[in-house]
Amino acid sequence: MRRQFVAALMVLSLSSWACAQGISYTLLGQTLIDARLKLFSRNDSERETTLRKMFSDAGCADHLSEPAVKHVKQPNLVCILPGTSAEAILVGAHFDHIDAGDGVVDNWSGAALLPTLYEGLRSKPVRHTFIFIAFTGEEKGELGSASYVNGMSKDEVALSRAMVNMDTLGLGPPEVWLSHADPNLARALAGVANAMKLPFRAVNVEQVGSTDSEQFARRKIPSITIHSLTQETLPVLHSRRDQISAVRLNDYYDSYRLVAAYLTYLDRVMSEPAPAAPAK
Ligand SMILES: [Zn+2]
Repeated sequence: MRRQFVAALMVLSLSSWACAQGISYTLLGQTLIDARLKLFSRNDSERETTLRKMFSDAGCADHLSEPAVKHVKQPNLVCILPGTSAEAILVGAHFDHIDAGDGVVDNWSGAALLPTLYEGLRSKPVRHTFIFIAFTGEEKGELGSASYVNGMSKDEVALSRAMVNMDTLGLGPPEVWLSHADPNLARALAGVANAMKLPFRAVNVEQVGSTDSEQFARRKIPSITIHSLTQETLPVLHSRRDQISAVRLNDYYDSYRLVAAYLTYLDRVMSEPAPAAPAK
């Protein structure tokens, strides 16, 4: 079984766009992505335990820390993938949820992808240091992300080249919260989605809510949030309709594919020296 699985990975990773960019990335199969989505729990402590195991199984046991957060029972979970440079790319998603529903869409959909994205990236050397953070206490007012950001030193902030946040995936094709995104990060994301021929659009959500990337933007760290909310699907949020049945699995898998390619692309392009200004 294992051998066959690896073979499948290779075929997936060499899409024409990736070839054109000289980029290869590793994707896990949809069956596994769906299976990890189905590991959700209605209990945040169980979600914490499941995530810790998923990070460990993915190979992050030695680089996993659990900083406590005031006023929240569960800690943040932080998994680091060291790169050849100290410059960092942060990848985040909150794992807590509102009790009205099962919190599969908001936000087990994002949290469950963190160990998987780590697993894909660790198969090859990376240039940036990737920091994967499963935030606690987002529904209580972004307590986990605020705590993490407040704890960052000036140097750590300066070394943070990008923060990519995932919140509420799978309701439909992936979207960007454009009005609150760093323009360069948004342009790169649109470019990757376009090259992968994935349906992609901008939907601004400041009228309906907020999310963890806002805490990073507060300290001027270039940030972006990927979500899937629309006017039509908004009623699912924080309601008993937030169940596994609300997730469109193919759109969810596309969202995963997009983020996996995007992180690999950012790792590459953000480490390349800026092109020299044309001689006057
Ligand atoms: Zn959320």
